[in-house]
Amino acid sequence: SAQDVDEVLWIADNHNVTITTFGDMMRVPGSKESLYQAQGRGVDVQVIYGISDAIKLAEENPEKEFLFFSVGFETTSCVTAAEVIRTKLPNFSIYASHKLIPPAMELLMQRDDLEFQGFLAPGHVSTIIGAKPYDFIPEKYNFPVAVAGFEPVDILLGIYALLKQFNENTSRVDNMYKRYVRHEGNVAALKTLEEAYVVADARWRGLGVWPNTGHEIADKYSHIDAKKKYEIPELETTDLHSGCICDEILVGKSKPHQCKLFNKACRPDHPIGACMVSHEGTCNVAATYEEIIWED
Ligand code: SF4
Repeated sequence: SAQDVDEVLWIADNHNVTITTFGDMMRVPGSKESLYQAQGRGVDVQVIYGISDAIKLAEENPEKEFLFFSVGFETTSCVTAAEVIRTKLPNFSIYASHKLIPPAMELLMQRDDLEFQGFLAPGHVSTIIGAKPYDFIPEKYNFPVAVAGFEPVDILLGIYALLKQFNENTSRVDNMYKRYVRHEGNVAALKTLEEAYVVADARWRGLGVWPNTGHEIADKYSHIDAKKKYEIPELETTDLHSGCICDEILVGKSKPHQCKLFNKACRPDHPIGACMVSHEGTCNVAATYEEIIWED
């Protein structure tokens, strides 16, 4: 959410901390500015390829403070978790903005303003958590799920599995990404997640705080938790730029071309909302492949 970007920038501004993060995060909008814009006014923001780069920077520059801005779902947060447990550097901390997929799916199902008939469960996350955490969806909600990979043929297989369940008037979890996803998941990775984090409420951009949909660093590792190391005041934040409907797009309620800023003021080379930033963002994909998507 914008609040995460705002808080990280507040830490940088008030404690002279170098921010390290992945390139994708640079243009994600905060309430007033992105990390990229803040870099332009002199904030030290360094793009890294992995948390180990951030730790190396902290080791090589003991006189400076470093913060790793860790954002993502179970796949990303798992790598960070290993360092939460292992790293003990006085000049290094982690700001965790980690989200959980299965409880977020459940909250979507509980909304009666959304129309969807099945879930394509994400392949990368499922390599960590497995297919098992989705079992409650057909059992409790009678809703079809297919775990799918990312190659075009994987997506087609996932859609095929959902349509098959739909036609058979049944619901189950079909694992169509068996070459990487096991039912039980990656047990060692799951143990690492459980050790490093506690389940907590999480802020979703434009959607507010959703209960039990995030991971925060566990109290026993508070020495590395930037949210505990720095006393961050309550900041006034704005999640969505005026006119941006990312909140509706994220839950499938609207399509990108229904936003009046789409491909006009908001473009891949000039993103205004978060959905336009990364190559995986819905608006970015729609803008990049617009002719293919909207062709009749
Ligand atoms: S086109 Fe831009 S402004 Fe509109 S919803 Fe997408 S990200 Fe937000």
